[in-house]
Amino acid sequence: MYPAVFLLEGTAMLVVMEEKASSKQIEEVMQRIRALEYECHRIEGEKGIVIGATGNGRGWHRLQVLECLPGVERVVPISTPYKLASRETKGVTTDFLVNDIEIGNGHVVVMAGPCAVENEAQLMETARVVREAGGSILRGGAFKPRTSPYSFQGLGEEGLRLLAQAREAFGLSVITEVVSPQNVELVATYADILQIGARNAQNFSLLKEVGQIAKPVLLKRGMMTSIEEFLMSAEYVLSEGNSKVMLCERGIRTFETSTRNTLDISAIPVLKEKTHLPVIVDPSHAAGDWKYVPPLSMAAVAAGVDGLLIEVHPWPEKALSDGSQSLKPERFQKLMTDIRHLGQVLGRNA
Ligand code: PEP
Ligand code: MN
Repeated sequence: MYPAVFLLEGTAMLVVMEEKASSKQIEEVMQRIRALEYECHRIEGEKGIVIGATGNGRGWHRLQVLECLPGVERVVPISTPYKLASRETKGVTTDFLVNDIEIGNGHVVVMAGPCAVENEAQLMETARVVREAGGSILRGGAFKPRTSPYSFQGLGEEGLRLLAQAREAFGLSVITEVVSPQNVELVATYADILQIGARNAQNFSLLKEVGQIAKPVLLKRGMMTSIEEFLMSAEYVLSEGNSKVMLCERGIRTFETSTRNTLDISAIPVLKEKTHLPVIVDPSHAAGDWKYVPPLSMAAVAAGVDGLLIEVHPWPEKALSDGSQSLKPERFQKLMTDIRHLGQVLGRNA
């Protein structure tokens, strides 16, 4: 039926189950796929279950035969190099909870905080500001991937402890970056969301490692990665079994030097078309200058993002990293009010 597609390396197959398919029929299909040495992914589709087969098994033509099994509606090959991240695979948009916070499903989640956790006073004060302004997730790096080895590298585990303390004190969830595969387990014991930074967007061993944990992952776009490469990075996490992935556009390198990076606003609708995953924008690392953060945040919300990741510092002039792009508390509060108003106009839950 699809002879040319069978020959494409890396092609995946989708088995679309009938709406009324029983769990026994679904299990039977999954067993057959595994028996043919493909990896099997159960996906909750718009109308029932879709089962994805990926990997290098014993021949795609054998999967096509699954169409004859009871409960199977059709078998469809997909040709995008990213399978699990593709909207072709999963008709419904992904949403999930981080503690009690809804990601996706019309919500605009705001994650805010300092670039780096510096000390208790700085973090607690920022957490208070974020909470009072209506933010729900506190950001802060404990392991910092700095361009220079002489710059502040983060507090390490002590930073994670402070984040956990702020979560307790202010009822916020916590997102923090993990920079090496060896630290994934440690970071996951403290954080509610693991952040993969732009510099690690194609660190495939790290991506595989975070694919094996039960916590959501915010994956940043590399400063030189195309959207397709970005989605392939997401695929690494998804293919290891972690379906809670958020994609974060944070600016890419262009010839333009008036901002630190160029925020690729087009990435928002393009990603929304190509993938079912939630899309977040980090205007701070795109702009490199706090003045541009509010208008870029508003543009991102207008373009349809599911959330924002914003750097906020109570005393930016004293910050150990990224002070020039960090919003002061009152500016963050004002931005939060503006986002809420814009959300009302757009019918979004901001
Ligand atoms: C950060 O969020 O502080 C950070 C280092 O971001 P990026 O990886 O986008 O540079
Ligand atoms: Mn930063």
